[in-house]
Formats: sequence, C-alpha cells, structure tokens
Amino acid sequence: MIYFIGAGPGAADLITVRGRELLEKADIVIYAGSLVDPLQLEYCKEGVEIYNSAKMNLDEVLDIMIENEKKDKLIVRLHTGDPSIYGAIGEQMRELDRNDIYYEVVPGVSSFVAANAAVKAEMTLPDISQTIILTRIKGRTDVPEKENLASLAKHRASMAIFLSVQKIDEVVEELLEGYSIDTPAVIVYRASWEDEKIIRGTLKNIASLAKENNIGRQAQILVGDFLDLHGSNFSLSKLYDKNFTTMYRKSVEEDR
Ligand code: SAH
Repeated sequence: MIYFIGAGPGAADLITVRGRELLEKADIVIYAGSLVDPLQLEYCKEGVEIYNSAKMNLDEVLDIMIENEKKDKLIVRLHTGDPSIYGAIGEQMRELDRNDIYYEVVPGVSSFVAANAAVKAEMTLPDISQTIILTRIKGRTDVPEKENLASLAKHRASMAIFLSVQKIDEVVEELLEGYSIDTPAVIVYRASWEDEKIIRGTLKNIASLAKENNIGRQAQILVGDFLDLHGSNFSLSKLYDKNFTTMYRKSVEEDR
C-alpha cells in the first residue's frame, strides 16, 4: 500500500497523528529531503528503507514505489507541508493510476498556514477579505498567463506567495499593480523551524528588508490588509455574534 503523506511545514510535531502512525509502520519511506526534517524519520521502525527524493528523478521514485507495492510493502511518500500544494504529487498519482495501483493521501499542514500561525494572522477578516490566493511567481516552472501576479493583485485579497522570495523585487513590482504601497507584507522564513524568522513591513520596504536579512529561499510572502489586525478595522464575525447566536443559532451555523 502506498501513502502520500504531508509532513507539515517543518517542526517534526506538526505532522498529523495519522501521518505519524503510518510513518511508524512504514517499510519504505521516500522523503523530500530538502524541506522535511530528518527528525521525522526517527519514528520509523528498525529496518525501514529510506530514500531521499531530492536526489531522485520521477522514474526512480515510481520504480521504488511500484516494485515494493508488488511485494506488499507499506510505502510512505513523505512530502513537505501539504502534498497538494506545489508537491508534484499529481504526476506520481497519474502514473500509479495508469498502473492500476491504489494509494491514499494524508493531508498536511501547509507552510502558508504555519506562516499565519507564526505572525498570528487571520486571512479571512470580515470586510477585509474573504478570499485567499495561493500563488507563486514564474520560476523554472511556468505560471499560466491568466494567473500573472499583477492580475491576481487587482483583487487585493489575502495572498500567500510560495517559491518566490528570491525574486522579491519582481514580486513587489507586480503586486503594486493592485495593492497600494502601504499594504502590509510579511516574510516568514522557515516557519515552525528553529531558525524561523519573521520580517514585517509593507510593499514599500519588504524587498529591501528581505535582502538586508539575506532571505533568498524557503520563505512565505504574505500580503494583504489582513496582516494589520489593529489597523484594518474589520467587523465582528456573525459566527460569534451574541444576538445572532441566541436567536438564530442554526442559521448561523449553516452560514459558516
Ligand atoms: N507543499 C508545501 C510547499 C512546497 S513548495 C506546502 O504545503 O507548504 C516549497 C515552498 O514552500 C518554498 O519555496 C516556500 O515558499 C514554501 N515553504 C515550505 N516550507 C516553508 C516553511 N517552513 N516556511 C516558509 N515557507 C515554506
């Protein structure tokens, strides 16, 4: 049996209970060495076979999976954060489907939520934004033109930008097509790891702050008025509105 598991953003105890229990039973583990803490592997049983996918190509990963699946082994493919977000899990699942091999996916805590936890922010403040955009700037992987950052910025929604801090100047230039220059922006480097760093600013200074702090990789860029908890003057939620909840509890629950 093959399980794709989200290992969480970094700290070894941010994997789910289900993920940890499967890891403990695994015969084979293929983990994303660049962003998964090797501490996770200390929970594996004796005799487990461990592969670092950072040093492997897709065919090599699939070969190990398929070969061991045939031997009835329990195989864990450990991805960073949540596997459905920039995890390259789709190409693996498609190939397993083509080979008629069953697998399951265990979700994980994505780094964008870990970044929000680090800065203590709510991305969905009433009246400020009810929409979250997760995106990235083009790198080796292209981004479809319909999703270019400048056009997404026009919504002025709450945004988390992956895989892009090394191009922070370009990111800011495009964001300014939609957001105002005083919009709060935060960079969270290695959220939940021991060397986590939080850099707070606005679109005016976030690029220079990133460079001064030498942040060139493994960071989330969060942008939007949601980051200004005390200045953004959002309304109270309906969910915990005391009048609403006593008289119309059911309808409030439904409106979540
Ligand atoms: N599947 C992962 C994302 C993998 S892409 C997830 O759900 O988080 C790798 C990118 O994710 C990095 O370039 C960085 O932008 C972001 N990232 C991963 N771990 C991070 C962390 N602990 N802190 C901040 N950003 C992180």
